[in-house]
Amino acid sequence: MAESSSISSNGTGSPADTAEVADAAHAAGTGTLADPLADIGVIGGSGFYSFLDDVTEVTVETPYGSPSDSLFVGEIAGRKVAFLPRHGRGHHLPPARINYRANLWALRSVGVRQVLAPCAVGGLREEYGPGTLLVPDQLVDRTKSRVQTYYDGEALADGSVPQVVHMSFADPYCPAGRRTAVTAARGQNWEPVDGGTLVVIEGPRFSTRAESRWHAAQGWSIVGMTGHPEAVLARELALCYTSIALVTDLDAGAETGEGVSHEEVLRVFAENIGRLRPVLFDAVAALPETGKRDCLCASALDGMDTGITLP
Ligand SMILES: [Zn+2]
Repeated sequence: MAESSSISSNGTGSPADTAEVADAAHAAGTGTLADPLADIGVIGGSGFYSFLDDVTEVTVETPYGSPSDSLFVGEIAGRKVAFLPRHGRGHHLPPARINYRANLWALRSVGVRQVLAPCAVGGLREEYGPGTLLVPDQLVDRTKSRVQTYYDGEALADGSVPQVVHMSFADPYCPAGRRTAVTAARGQNWEPVDGGTLVVIEGPRFSTRAESRWHAAQGWSIVGMTGHPEAVLARELALCYTSIALVTDLDAGAETGEGVSHEEVLRVFAENIGRLRPVLFDAVAALPETGKRDCLCASALDGMDTGITLP
């Protein structure tokens, strides 16, 4: 990681900012705005990019503060990918303290329009044991304290004021991204569960047995702590967003032992990251070209007056 550059993005789209971004892109040696730094984002841990030969570290500031970490930009199968460690290097950010708004804004500001989001989850059914891969098609938000919109009427530093908008979120995930992820998993002989509901809890604690049994009784499939508001903020920026969930444990209600432990989650995730990486990489290679997106995500903001200019 010899190269690094810095980008400040205030969302005004003014010529000065554009030049700054373009300059940073040139400095990084990877492109210009017309030829973006990256068009695919992966929000996950360092295990997904640390072995790439050529990775450029790009620091991005946003109107919403700093993202969890630098973006690490590399290339997979000719596609330019920006990796962002969701919890920061060294995993120092608990789920509720992740700056989800800055993370998605930072990705968009370097050109990203499609996001793959691997995450560790608990299984709510016995058949979804450790090592299960699930590509959810629904989510339930049980978080409590997280900002989940950009369009909150709070003026940005440049004076523009985001107008309140109400996004369609009936289908929270990108259908094209989901299909691509499922196909990529099958191609790696890892039959995924195609669809299911991710319930996102506040954390950082795991569920009680009663909560876990209640989640399962609702028919929900898996439980995690980071899938929201990540998904809705992506939609608010007209980004495609696909969650790829790796089950690391049976949640408290579905298992008979002492309940989930953090060590267990980390161990199972580490054991499976070698399997997950090629799935992600195949998915990256197979995602539609940015200009050829025809999903609901790409047109999420059509006809809406948001009051601000997206990067
Ligand atoms: Zn999409």
